[in-house]
Amino acid sequence: MAEYTPMIKQYLTIKADYKDAFLFFRLGDFYEMFFEDAINASQILEITLTARDGGTNDKIPMCGVPYHAAAGYIEQLVNQGHKVAIAEQTEDPKQAKGVVKREVIQLITPGTVMEGKNLLEKENNFLASVTSFSDDSFGFALTDLTTGENRVSLLSFHFDDVIGEIYANGVKEVVVSSDFDDKYRKALIERCSVTLSYEDNCTIANQFEQLIQGLEDEKMVLTYGRLLNYLMKTQKRSLDHLQEVRIFHTNQFMKIDLYSKRNLELTETIRSKGKKGSLLWLLDQTVTAMGGRLLKQWIDRPLLNKSEIESRHNMVQTFIEHYFERLELRDQLKGVYDLERLAGRVAYGNVNARDLLQLKKSLEQVPGIYHLVTQLKHPYATNLAKQMDLCESLTELLQHSIKESPPLSIKEGDIIKDGFNATLDQYRDASRNGKTWIASLEKQEREKTGIKSLKIGYNRVFGYYIEVSKANLQFLPEGMYERKQTLSNAERFITPELKEKETLILEAEEKIVQLEYDLFIDIREQVKGYIPRLQALAKVISELDVLQCFATISEERHYCKPQFSEEQLFIKDGRHPVVEKVMQAQEYVPNDCVMQQGQALLLITGPNMSGKSTYMRQIALTSILAQIGCFVPAREAVLPIYDQVFTRIGAADDLISGQSTFMVEMLEAKNALVNATSKSLLLFDEIGRGTSTYDGMALAQAIIEHIHQQIGAHTLFSTHYHELTDLETKLENVKNIHVSAIEENDNVVFLHKVKEGAADKSYGIHVAKLAELPDSLIERAKEILGQLEQTEKEVAVSSEESERSVEPADNLQLSFFGETKASYKMGDKQVTSKEKDALKSIKEMDILGLTPLEAINKLYELQKQLKG
Ligand code: ADP
Ligand code: MG
Repeated sequence: MAEYTPMIKQYLTIKADYKDAFLFFRLGDFYEMFFEDAINASQILEITLTARDGGTNDKIPMCGVPYHAAAGYIEQLVNQGHKVAIAEQTEDPKQAKGVVKREVIQLITPGTVMEGKNLLEKENNFLASVTSFSDDSFGFALTDLTTGENRVSLLSFHFDDVIGEIYANGVKEVVVSSDFDDKYRKALIERCSVTLSYEDNCTIANQFEQLIQGLEDEKMVLTYGRLLNYLMKTQKRSLDHLQEVRIFHTNQFMKIDLYSKRNLELTETIRSKGKKGSLLWLLDQTVTAMGGRLLKQWIDRPLLNKSEIESRHNMVQTFIEHYFERLELRDQLKGVYDLERLAGRVAYGNVNARDLLQLKKSLEQVPGIYHLVTQLKHPYATNLAKQMDLCESLTELLQHSIKESPPLSIKEGDIIKDGFNATLDQYRDASRNGKTWIASLEKQEREKTGIKSLKIGYNRVFGYYIEVSKANLQFLPEGMYERKQTLSNAERFITPELKEKETLILEAEEKIVQLEYDLFIDIREQVKGYIPRLQALAKVISELDVLQCFATISEERHYCKPQFSEEQLFIKDGRHPVVEKVMQAQEYVPNDCVMQQGQALLLITGPNMSGKSTYMRQIALTSILAQIGCFVPAREAVLPIYDQVFTRIGAADDLISGQSTFMVEMLEAKNALVNATSKSLLLFDEIGRGTSTYDGMALAQAIIEHIHQQIGAHTLFSTHYHELTDLETKLENVKNIHVSAIEENDNVVFLHKVKEGAADKSYGIHVAKLAELPDSLIERAKEILGQLEQTEKEVAVSSEESERSVEPADNLQLSFFGETKASYKMGDKQVTSKEKDALKSIKEMDILGLTPLEAINKLYELQKQLKG
């Protein structure tokens, strides 16, 4: 049987180690792919599939991309979640015996790309590793290879927490052990669409010991070790810029699970999945890329520690009060490039002179920033200033060494300034002198020969030459001039003298280029020594940037500084920060919200489109804004510090997962109910929608009762089941509110104003009318509604037990009153506070402890109370 050629054998040997990657196999000026890789890549990249002989009878499928254009193709593959292994020739083909040696020099994966369009300035590119432990907990580690940031946390028991972290950090690739549980793998791939990678070695190599010195336990070390070993294996180069691993205790931050984050549109919108329209988009007034990334991290992790939160608020206040200083700071920050990523690329050895120039310009801003920050005379600011390392010696080095507009390439010279290196200056002198000599030669030769048009030129092939036009050739003396090149109407000559100078000049230039390259590499090595200091500086600058951003947005949008209280939530004239911004001509209607400790469940009714969801979300967003340290969209706000925020929406409203089944709705509800504490904020938006009316209503009521009795968390519960408003009378801490609307000429007008009491009815048909459904259809719907209401009324009347407060038809009229009337008064059906008190005392009655007479007296009293 025929065998593969030695080269194909080599290919197959390398490929065996990189089964899950496209192997880019260097062949001359191309990277070639073979077999399956070739077939798949040719489709994805839309390049031609060919075939070549490989020693066997069948031809081998092959496709390739030119070496110089490979970056774009690699990016395309990696963007789609694939990995690319780059196999280079690792010996000089001229010296090779047999097949040239090839080795994989780097594995590029979605989580480890260092450059390209896919790396957004204001976003981290995190690679994660997950380890599951036998006690059901999970270790979770993150690295951003571009910035060197490292983190690790332990997550408890719920794999959903892992998924939440992956989502929040925009992780595209996760490293796990080869025996990682199948159901988790499946969840990672299906729910997070990440690329999975495997690494079983978790031992931290000695050279990285200092990275993990702060880690508290073996689980953390193991989880980070897995990640680190994967990095070493894929990158095969210096990882000097990795920063000390920081621990994130998840209980130090407000917990917002995956669904809630999506639902509140913190960093991306539900519909477009883009940043525009999200809270991040609204807030982002950061000037630097580093600041932009930190802002996103802060939004993902609101604080719980009151004094930490307040010190951010105070700093924001200071920035608001120091308007001009803030403007100046913003100006200075504009001159600061991405120090973190620059440092990463320095470590990687792929910076050029322009990058170092950016570094220099950034560092030149730092003294000004330092000065400004100290001027604020605020403890937070002073503390930040103290941490600012001006890296003056580095600034000086760069100022003296790097030219102002260097070329992209570091191999062509023209990078290093005069005066930086004596030898370089000498070569340059030699080269310059030679050039001056040649320039003067032209004049001499003209005089000598009397040929006025004689000129001296240079080209790469022939070097320096003397050019004489054909007409003037006769005037050229014999002997000295050696003919080099003939053009159509001129001849070019050289002379021994000219040749000699040329050699000098070219030698000098060659030396200059080589020396400049060496000097540059040396400077780059020196910069490497500054990496940790640059990273520390980057941290301070990004923090300043986010805080000035909070001040800028708070001032621009008239936010107020929130206060904190353990007892209550009190928001005066609160607004939804994003809806308010995107509404153009119309005015956003501000709304209050009050939740006492004892009166913690607001049941929200109101027609479709009246603003229930918006109102609920604005409360959650206000709390989140407050806890990340920003001011809040309200006239006045007193807030508890919430440990968790949950938002749950009925399946019919759930546009997020695309799997809007009732099961999902219930699973999410369960998660909230299991995890919430009395210090949490719960939003339930039309829960129970995904099933039939009675089912849904029953569940909704049971959920309310559960929250009321078991959890006691501040809760906003919107519902389209009017029947539930009756719960106010049964459950002490339930309070009805509604978003008001009025009818004018059979049209509904939304006032978006939140008021006490329950809404009178739903206005679905009116909304349909607004949406301009056909008139005949609207009429028919009204007819059907009439019939349904009639039936309901009959049912209600016939059932003496019925406690459901279905609106009697005659009450409908009441809903047409104007907005000025206290619209939460709902006719007789409304429970008065007297009734509530009476019910309360009945509830609290110790019946077994009463004598019959006492009982009768009590009853009498109650009746009197109710009548009077
Ligand atoms: P619901 O949940 O009651 O169906 P939404 O909260 O979805 O209603 O709000 C519907 C629309 O009403 C929103 O898209 C927004 O444009 C508008 N809206 C909501 N609240 C307000 C408000 N307070 N002021 C002005 N417009 C609002
Ligand atoms: Mg809604």
